[in-house]
Amino acid sequence: MEVVGFLRERFRAYYAKTPVAGPPDLAQREFGTGDYGIKINQRHLAFRSREELNRFLREQAPFYISYSNAYYNYPDRRPMEAKKFIKADLVYEFDADDLKTDCKKQHDAWKCGKCGANGPGLLENCTSCGQRVEREEWVCGECLGAVKKQVFRLLDFLENDFGLSAADGMAINSSGGKGYHLHVRSEAVQHLSNPARIELLDYLTAANLDFKALGFYLTEDHRFVCPPRSRGEALGWARRLLDRLAEFLSTADASALSVYGRIGIPTAKKLLEKREKILADLDKGLMHQFPGKQTEQFWGNLLAYAVEGLRLDVDRQTSADISKIVRVPDTLHGSTGLLAKTVALEALPAFDPLKETVVFGGGGETVKVKALKAPRFSLGGEGFGPYSQEVVELPEFAAIYLLARGAAELLPRP
Ligand SMILES: [Zn+2]
Ligand SMILES: [Zn+2]
Repeated sequence: MEVVGFLRERFRAYYAKTPVAGPPDLAQREFGTGDYGIKINQRHLAFRSREELNRFLREQAPFYISYSNAYYNYPDRRPMEAKKFIKADLVYEFDADDLKTDCKKQHDAWKCGKCGANGPGLLENCTSCGQRVEREEWVCGECLGAVKKQVFRLLDFLENDFGLSAADGMAINSSGGKGYHLHVRSEAVQHLSNPARIELLDYLTAANLDFKALGFYLTEDHRFVCPPRSRGEALGWARRLLDRLAEFLSTADASALSVYGRIGIPTAKKLLEKREKILADLDKGLMHQFPGKQTEQFWGNLLAYAVEGLRLDVDRQTSADISKIVRVPDTLHGSTGLLAKTVALEALPAFDPLKETVVFGGGGETVKVKALKAPRFSLGGEGFGPYSQEVVELPEFAAIYLLARGAAELLPRP
């Protein structure tokens, strides 16, 4: 049986027994579907009710189904203007492919379409001929954990800087692939214009952060000042930076100070002798002074380092787009066969996307496949691979995982 037919039949069986809730106000949303290897190849669909959506899923069993963060009066009309836009949720997408975690050296690979060179790890251009390479990206607990940290970082910004709470319709789901989606479905944000959404993104990603405007600057008499930390007046980024600096300065050793502040080890050691004084000054709004131009350089370097550790790594393009469509929560992801599972806020810390999004093979079913190429991977609490051109009998979920991304071929059953 061909792969596409096999996967479609499994997806259909899943939707036959598992109704999908769909997004709130689903009759006002535009939907789109995708096919094997194509995330979206049809848009401008609409459903009047949850029943209609579920009937569609049972009958068509699409490989991907997405919905608009926007609400429209006429979601199926086209062109876009004819839909009559009402408002749009905020949606942030986080993807392991956007983070340069060390584990990518272990599980990712690249191949040059021009000269055929290939190798492990993540890179942009071929090491032999410079051509843009095709990437093979996989995920593991480490990179998905790093993505989850980004989600927590966003939650912190939303709650503490923007004053939103779980009551403001915040919902998180696994993407079913390499990350998470966070939706904010609240009147507080739904009427934000595109430029306003970009402004939020600038804030979250610390684009063009202006240290001087935040209160960190060199005065005319060459003192480097900051908002006094002890009075608790600093808000937003100023507070985040102060807290981060204080945390760093109270734990850093000489080598960390030297690396991140770009100063010599002897200078760093001298600084450490004054650690208590430096921290006390920071509380009063004064940053420790060095001879010559070093003051501005040292603090500039430390502030830049602090920003890197605090800013959000989020897909800027999709996060400001009000006409985009994103995966419907609790539907299947066509390149993994995993569920884009909704995760309650309080369940997120313990959530394991490589375990809890597995839906196939619950009855112990196995499938024999020819695994073409795969690194070691973990799924459903079991370890698999690495594989290279070998016939293996796998639990159904692992076989579907490989088949869906084109890393395996189906074998005829005896
Ligand atoms: Zn090449
Ligand atoms: Zn990884």
